[in-house]
Amino acid sequence: MIKIKCRNCGKEFSIYKYRLNMSKDICCSRKCGAELTTRRNGGTPINVDKIKNSNNFYYLMGLISTDGYIHVGLPKIKHNRKKLSIKRYIRISLARKDKDILYKIKDVIGGNVKDYPNRKTGLNSIGCTVWETSQNDFIDHILKTTNIQYNNKTFNLNVTEWFNGLSPIQKLYYIRGVFDGDGGITIHKNKTLNSIGWNTSIITASLDFINMLINYFKSCNIYTRYKEINKKYHYCYWTKKQFSVEMLDHIYGNISNDDLYINRKYEKYKIIKDNYVKT
Ligand SMILES: [Zn+2]
Repeated sequence: MIKIKCRNCGKEFSIYKYRLNMSKDICCSRKCGAELTTRRNGGTPINVDKIKNSNNFYYLMGLISTDGYIHVGLPKIKHNRKKLSIKRYIRISLARKDKDILYKIKDVIGGNVKDYPNRKTGLNSIGCTVWETSQNDFIDHILKTTNIQYNNKTFNLNVTEWFNGLSPIQKLYYIRGVFDGDGGITIHKNKTLNSIGWNTSIITASLDFINMLINYFKSCNIYTRYKEINKKYHYCYWTKKQFSVEMLDHIYGNISNDDLYINRKYEKYKIIKDNYVKT
């Protein structure tokens, strides 16, 4: 045995001499090994103990539930080793206009961000930006403590049981993530009246999920309407200016500096607030 320093954390530890020749990047633990790989790829390691109880964690869960994807592959035997390896990762893809939030998630929580200027997203060729992590302890924590489905089909998303067990503040952050993911704010100008109008909505493919959202807004005394589109999509919406503003105040009204949110939607909220006259 000889003593060497961990390439990631710098701690001194003992290993068998023959292992030195196997890899230059020898670390004291699996965790340090994963962190080093993340850094080498330009990412920031996620400190699970630090973030798992933070409000931003719940925001991220909301964004993952709507615009994210948790991939858990089939077990494979890797390089003749007896141990099974399972490829897992979490990915959030957004149009490039909203890439600020993904870089902010990388700064505040960790993970890796890649920008694809020319990749098609839906109908538009406006490119997309992807946030990603394959950090096992983080994925484990999410799979154990939430019930966001992996390899998810959006139409059967159902997290009601987990959501109902959250504190009011955790629920709020989760809902902000959901609205940033699947929510929409449309502002239209009325030239003759020289004023603006607006609509807000959330669209999802899961009936369980929309029911959970509607019940949530109801419990916050926010009047919310529901309709089904093409027997495929579920839609909750706020057409009256007052109800829209109440909903947006609830979601964006109390944001502090360290909070995660999509700037583009927050700016629309501010325009609406500046133009709203209570009647
Ligand atoms: Zn280490």
